[in-house]
Amino acid sequence: MRKKIVAGNWKMNKTLQEGVALAQTVEQMASALSGGAQVVVAPPFLHLTEVKKVLKTVSIAAQNCAAESSGAYTGEVSAAMLKSAGIEYVILGHSERRAYYGETDAILAKKVDLALANGLTPIFCCGEVLSEREQNLHLGVVKTQLADALFHLSAEQFSRIVIAYEPVWAIGTGVTATSDQAQEMHHYIRGVLAEKYGAAVANEISILYGGSCKPSNAGELFANPDVDGGLIGGASLEAGDFIGIVKAF
Ligand code: PEP
Repeated sequence: MRKKIVAGNWKMNKTLQEGVALAQTVEQMASALSGGAQVVVAPPFLHLTEVKKVLKTVSIAAQNCAAESSGAYTGEVSAAMLKSAGIEYVILGHSERRAYYGETDAILAKKVDLALANGLTPIFCCGEVLSEREQNLHLGVVKTQLADALFHLSAEQFSRIVIAYEPVWAIGTGVTATSDQAQEMHHYIRGVLAEKYGAAVANEISILYGGSCKPSNAGELFANPDVDGGLIGGASLEAGDFIGIVKAF
């Protein structure tokens, strides 16, 4: 049975104190739920170790890691450092990193390798921009992102990846992909993975949806057979909204 996951990407929000307080509330609310999805929070790097201290049932993710293992890379944080701090997941290839920091699939391939080598679970983000969807190129765009960043992995390595499909036009815009659009893409991704790694591996991979997901639309999105949870931006900054999404399962 593949894992259901709801992960909150806090991006560059919250002071340290605000972040710890948010994590405490999320932990309290999540621990009162029975079963359902694995809840994950992804605070800024600075907050990770303090936030980790207040989590028990909730898992923790970094929002990025370096493409090199160590050395003279000012301002970077390595996968090994994250692992040493007890971090479990790392978001890689978020569209904001691709758009604002020039992250290419070649760079992401290196980050994925380092994350896996250090025992972190990558949450690999893929998704098309609006003009690509309007030209009906969205399926091909996502296939290329997956192939270029991930298809050098062995089946065993790939089985440790979580995919997040995030149509860029839906991120932070208030516009959500329809339930049918999400299912179409998630089903397509699973088919692409099955072609490359076989149906058994593809069926075990969690594929999350991201893009203006909120308590009011999460139920419909998560009801799809190939949608295994969500990567949540804005709505993860308020514990009640975030847990409302978790409860949608
Ligand atoms: C995201 O940035 O991963 C995201 C899904 O953001 P939002 O939920 O705010 O659209």
